[in-house]
Amino acid sequence: MYSVQSYGYLDLIEGTRQLAGSYPFVSAYVIGKSVMGKPLIALRCGSGPRQIHMNASFHANEWITSALLMRFAADLSAAYCSGEPIGGQQVEQLCRETTLWVVPMVNPDGVELAQRGTSPSHPWNRQLLEWNGGSEDFSCWKANIRGVDLNDQFPAFWEEECRRRGISGPSPRDYPGIHPLSEPEALAMAQFTESIGFDAVVALHTQGREIYWNYRNYEPADAEQLARRLGQVSGYKPVKLTGSDAGYKDWFIQHFRRPGFTVEAGYGENPLPMSNFDQIYVELQPLLLEALRL
Ligand SMILES: [Zn+2]
Repeated sequence: MYSVQSYGYLDLIEGTRQLAGSYPFVSAYVIGKSVMGKPLIALRCGSGPRQIHMNASFHANEWITSALLMRFAADLSAAYCSGEPIGGQQVEQLCRETTLWVVPMVNPDGVELAQRGTSPSHPWNRQLLEWNGGSEDFSCWKANIRGVDLNDQFPAFWEEECRRRGISGPSPRDYPGIHPLSEPEALAMAQFTESIGFDAVVALHTQGREIYWNYRNYEPADAEQLARRLGQVSGYKPVKLTGSDAGYKDWFIQHFRRPGFTVEAGYGENPLPMSNFDQIYVELQPLLLEALRL
């Protein structure tokens, strides 16, 4: 479907405009702004009583997840409106029971940096080069534009994560910031999540074809079983993870005691190229569809 080499913030804005313009089923919202002032977009698909959330591109060099999630939102909307099935499943009933809230690009400044690099006119140019060890290749950048790892920013044993990471300042990856939710993108996600109170969440990352479903025994009793369902339809492997804190799904599980999953889509070396898109989507679509039934 995509012949382009990458999927960036402008693609997201155009995709949002098309979806919201084509389907009454879809509404677009701004839930905050990035450090550089880019609106953080949320799409609402449907209006059922069950509230499911999916997000992508917490990590800059995992931007292919934004394209994957937008494709899913588009497929779901088209299926609902046409009455055609997705993957052999009718979705009308599902969509009447469920509202899907999608935040396709949590870290747009970082995505732009990972895809385009910096330039002398970039307001953070000198610092970015310094934080990147002098290299002009930002393709492996995971953090936001201030060198903070947004998925190490949540108030779930954050101090422990800081000790574990042992990184004292801005960095391409793994720096948790000066305090939890110090970054506008992470704060927006926490506030958005509090305001809706989702029944379940899925955070899309790359890579590894794995599903992380637990957090320090705070997860609900059926979390492992739910992860197995997601694994069965996708071929991804449910993994019980220890030794990681302060992630979005960690905070969600601890704070709400509801099912939260990190899905590591695809396999290879980040950033996964767009040439992997179709292959990943084939396994991810049934997983996301099943997540709507959680
Ligand atoms: Zn990630």
